[in-house]
Amino acid sequence: AGLVVAIDGPSGSGKSSVSRGVARELGLRYLDTGAMYRAITWWMLREGVDVGDAAAVAARAGEPELVVGTDPDAPAIAVDGVDVAGPIRGPEVTGAVSAVSAVPEVRRRLVARQREIMDEACRDGAGIVIEGRDIGTVVAPDATVKIFLTASAEERARRRTAELTGTTLEAQREAMARRDQLDSTRPVNPLAKADDAVELDTTGLTLDEVIAEVLRLTKE
Ligand code: C5P
Repeated sequence: AGLVVAIDGPSGSGKSSVSRGVARELGLRYLDTGAMYRAITWWMLREGVDVGDAAAVAARAGEPELVVGTDPDAPAIAVDGVDVAGPIRGPEVTGAVSAVSAVPEVRRRLVARQREIMDEACRDGAGIVIEGRDIGTVVAPDATVKIFLTASAEERARRRTAELTGTTLEAQREAMARRDQLDSTRPVNPLAKADDAVELDTTGLTLDEVIAEVLRLTKE
């Protein structure tokens, strides 16, 4: 059986950088489940689907053809043959993704897909690091290690502002608080710490320090 490292946490907690670093260090595959929800959202917006209409989103959830890469050095994502790695990070998708990812039909399909990717990585390789909001609770309840990353709202907004252009700390803080609120209160698979996850507060820690701590927990 392969190694499965589940990394959950709110936006800006450092999940992606930490997960990629851990995957690289251990020679594991890497899956960004947030990118999958973002890609579906990008497609819904392109198709003109009203993302506030859950029934409309559910009705079309089976149409987009997702291709997801698992290389920690080059995470690739395409929908219907279009490379969407750039556009899924834009403000339109970020503002709509919580509504789309709250639709049970969308989650049912993506969770099934995520489990397939996980099983394949364990069958054909050393294992996988999976990051998201419901990995330890829903996607991989039997994961080898479960980490719940947190950081102060101030630090999370600061990190995100440094990554993006044309935004302010205040705007980021508000947008992130809104998204985390929606993600943690949706009825199906909300953002949550699994009972057996280790909570790691990354406020004031460097990326290398956080990666080292996750590696230590993984070797325990
Ligand atoms: O991780 P990232 O911020 O890119 O995720 C984007 C959005 O996708 C989250 O705000 C959440 O609405 C959704 N998501 C989810 N379940 C996951 C991963 C992401 O609902 N496992």
